[in-house]
Amino acid sequence: MNKLLRFDRPPETTMGNGRYYARFSQAEVFPAPVEGGIAYTWLFEAFDADWFDDNSEPVNTDFFESYYERAELFLLELHIQPMEVRRFEPLPSIEQEVLEDDEGDEWLIFEAAPSRDGMLGEGELGLTVYSNLYQPGIETSAKDIRRADASVQAKLRRVVSTDHIPDASENDIDGALAGVENTQIDWAVVYDVGQGNAIGFCNVQGSVQAYVDLGGGTLQNAHTYPSALQKFCFTKSPPIILSHWDFDHWSSASRDKQSLTMAWVAPRQSVGPTHAALMTAIMSSGRLLLVPKTLQARWRGQLYLEICTGRGRNHSGIALTLSEVQKGGGNLILFPGDARYSCLPSFNSTNKYSSVVAPHHGGDMRNHTAPCGVLQRCSRLAYSSGRGNSYGHPAFITRQDHDKAGWPDPSITMRASHYPIRETQNRVSRPLGHVFLGWTNRTTAPALPCGGGFCQLQAQQL
Ligand SMILES: [Zn+2]
Ligand SMILES: [Zn+2]
Repeated sequence: MNKLLRFDRPPETTMGNGRYYARFSQAEVFPAPVEGGIAYTWLFEAFDADWFDDNSEPVNTDFFESYYERAELFLLELHIQPMEVRRFEPLPSIEQEVLEDDEGDEWLIFEAAPSRDGMLGEGELGLTVYSNLYQPGIETSAKDIRRADASVQAKLRRVVSTDHIPDASENDIDGALAGVENTQIDWAVVYDVGQGNAIGFCNVQGSVQAYVDLGGGTLQNAHTYPSALQKFCFTKSPPIILSHWDFDHWSSASRDKQSLTMAWVAPRQSVGPTHAALMTAIMSSGRLLLVPKTLQARWRGQLYLEICTGRGRNHSGIALTLSEVQKGGGNLILFPGDARYSCLPSFNSTNKYSSVVAPHHGGDMRNHTAPCGVLQRCSRLAYSSGRGNSYGHPAFITRQDHDKAGWPDPSITMRASHYPIRETQNRVSRPLGHVFLGWTNRTTAPALPCGGGFCQLQAQQL
């Protein structure tokens, strides 16, 4: 596994030579410390430029795996305020992409040097350089950011291309989901993985039959991951259905490497080198099924799997609906990943869901659509985020939108007869905050078949 993704025995923290080829990966917008201000954190996936110049492409796709085992990869986190976007010529177009949820595949050259005590020189921007997904980064200042020239861009695009991985066929997907399709799913649990998302669909014994995402806190939010959660359940060889290719949705793969031997059902999306490195790790020990955009949505047992139709990675991945009985019967629970509700083809604001996992950890969706709450005793609206996360998730506006749609939130509505809101960051007095989602109201959390001896997945909040 590439050292950027290694959780056990992480490599020594380094910033390499300070020159990188980098591609925009994901963005967060959050309130800045100045009044009324906002700030951006833009994350870039990068190669060490010197390493790449000497290793500019895998000889052929058979070398994809060994290439990504060796590649000198970094993640760069640019901290920037809107008024600073004009500092470097390529940044306004990134801002435009972020605002429009668009996704360019342009490669930039970053030049950075360690910053002394966080002080930046004239015209420089703060840049955190990470050599490992789970370790603190190095504070540097970006001295220059410019476009890479066309021939280098072409080489970079070739090495992150996944064109050599064929689309998963209907048969492949049916095969990977056969176990979960043919088992009664009695409940789901939204695991407390800090700032990220990981959900298990469980049978009556409590074994996980499928995961939706297997993520958790990373980078500046790595500290939000609970140290008490070390092992997931793989007894039933559950497929891992990945909503989309963002770190906080798959980063627990290296925390429990048994996951890499499973089948991963993931959307085909354009990715950078970090995600490509995970893909190679899955392909070398398990199975990677890349679901094409053309997949026909349909019920498979109690699962409805569909491809979202928005732009950008968050809004174009896989969304799932789980029904109480086969093929959409009974109550429904919605798992939109990080997608805006309006990007789910099956979503309609009159659909009745008994429970929902709020999209994007409760982040501001820049859209007020929310599902209509049907308040039953078992109804839950779950927020999956980490306490003290750097983005301020869940956002107040998102709580408000859901509260108005019929999910009374104790921070907004006083005196509701029943509050369905549950947050994974609420660890109460226990070390974990896993949230139970089910079809009936319970007074005690179901036990695990291993009694908790082999995993730490017991629901904590009913
Ligand atoms: Zn995301
Ligand atoms: Zn996310």
